[in-house]
Amino acid sequence: MLGLMQNHQLLISSLIEHAERHHSEGEIVSRRVEGDIHRYTYKQVAARSRQVANALDALKLNFSDRVATLAWNGYRHLELYFGVSGSGRVLHTLNPRLHPDQVVWIANHAEDSVLCFDATFLPIVKAIHSRCTTIQHYVMLCDAAALPADTGIPGLQSYEAWIGAHPSTYNWPQFDENSASSMCYTSGTTGNPKAALYSHRSTMLHALAGAMPDVLNISARDSILPVVPMFHVNAWGLPYSAAMNGAKMVFPGPAMDGKSIYELIESEKVTFAAGVPTVWQMMLGHIQTGGLRFSTLNRTVIGGSACPPAMIAAFNDVYGVEVLHAWGMTEMSPLGTVCTLKNQHLELSSEDKMKVRLKQGRAVYGVDMKIVDPDGDELPWDGKISGDLLVRGPWIIEQYFKQEGASPLVSGGWFPTGDVGTIDGNGYLQITDRSKDVIKSGGEWISSIDVENIAMAHPAVLMAACIGMKHPKWDERPIIAVVKKPGAEVSRDELLAFFVGKTAKFQIPDDVVFVDAIPLGATGKMQKMKLREVLKDYSLPGV
Ligand code: AMP
Repeated sequence: MLGLMQNHQLLISSLIEHAERHHSEGEIVSRRVEGDIHRYTYKQVAARSRQVANALDALKLNFSDRVATLAWNGYRHLELYFGVSGSGRVLHTLNPRLHPDQVVWIANHAEDSVLCFDATFLPIVKAIHSRCTTIQHYVMLCDAAALPADTGIPGLQSYEAWIGAHPSTYNWPQFDENSASSMCYTSGTTGNPKAALYSHRSTMLHALAGAMPDVLNISARDSILPVVPMFHVNAWGLPYSAAMNGAKMVFPGPAMDGKSIYELIESEKVTFAAGVPTVWQMMLGHIQTGGLRFSTLNRTVIGGSACPPAMIAAFNDVYGVEVLHAWGMTEMSPLGTVCTLKNQHLELSSEDKMKVRLKQGRAVYGVDMKIVDPDGDELPWDGKISGDLLVRGPWIIEQYFKQEGASPLVSGGWFPTGDVGTIDGNGYLQITDRSKDVIKSGGEWISSIDVENIAMAHPAVLMAACIGMKHPKWDERPIIAVVKKPGAEVSRDELLAFFVGKTAKFQIPDDVVFVDAIPLGATGKMQKMKLREVLKDYSLPGV
């Protein structure tokens, strides 16, 4: 017997409809690329999202066509979140920090039809548009008057003129909630970047779960500042959860330095902020130097990389701001675990509480996780034994875009995360290592294979191994260990200069270490654990 309840599809358009109806005066505040502060309400977001939808219909875009963005966190980007997905198209948030060649590869792979970009990224778009083979329409996120002439970009128009030509009345289409809504590429593993393709259903369930009290605890009383970019897994789902609850949103635009972020937190009475440790490192530096305090901020979710103990201590003990240490992945929309305390933790000494807070936390409802040994057998939850972390759930990837048939899942429908960790008796995950061969610097990925391939292309290099080294600001920075060809010569600086232009600047290693040999395993694979032992006394330049 089936239940007799209404079968309403979970669609992203319903979020902005709800926000308009119930929180029409809820504020959206953005620091713009232009430098000023823009302020309006959910009522206007909704109206302008409908204009976006009409503008996309007028371009004769099909259902599921991709609309790409190269944009900071801001109100126009938010309108695209709702207008693009709500009208049945797929929002593809490109990462502007990547090398332009990578952006071209990704845009072509996604078969983007439209590209909407902030003025900051005009030079990138100028440089790449002729190689973007599927993009037919270019829109700069600016007023008509700010559109530069003679850019060479075919048909370039300003966002305001583009949507301004269309009415703000629109009937959001109803369709299957399993339809694709947005996509995000991750370069987390080796080879070409891979795309997670989210659905309306996965996004909506993730937004509901994300708002729960023991997750991010989002309410209409919140003023939320996502410093995490809208091109990083949909700003961790915050635009959706915020609209669902009518929370105020505050967008930092391109100004991500400690001073600008702090000023925005204070001026907009931010209660909750989200970002990677590097961002908070810079902000803590600013407030510590200036002897400043927070007047409204009460919690911050920190994830993307392990949160250092000193940061948790500073926020919790010095500034009275609760740290929600979280773990997740692009492939998980991204929320997996969040570290909120259970009842039995409340009586602990602050030292023991800190031990709990350092963990990445317990699974959000909807996420099933386990740790396994190399044979795939499940390991106990004793907080000591570590194993490969597997996850499954309704907002976790089943297949990568255009890789249908090559399922990333293992037996039982589990997704192997490439992370290694322990789980304690209370269900708290602690990430202890990473089995995937990548480095994460300031929240952005660096593929060690890509770095090695560039080094190996140098005529004097016989073998190269890239490893990540702990860094106080960026969490990790890559260095490269190099064996020179017999009789060949190359200096550290010459080799580092060889990387320039071949990869994004942040992906260039910080240092070169010349070694006689790189430890190899029986199958000829480089043994990076052993290499780390060889380099145990090494420290990064300037650290
Ligand atoms: P991304 O897909 O860019 O969101 O990166 C996901 C990966 O970042 C995870 O698989 C982890 O390797 C790492 N990561 C995310 N959050 C944390 C955390 N709190 N602690 C340690 N590593 C993390």
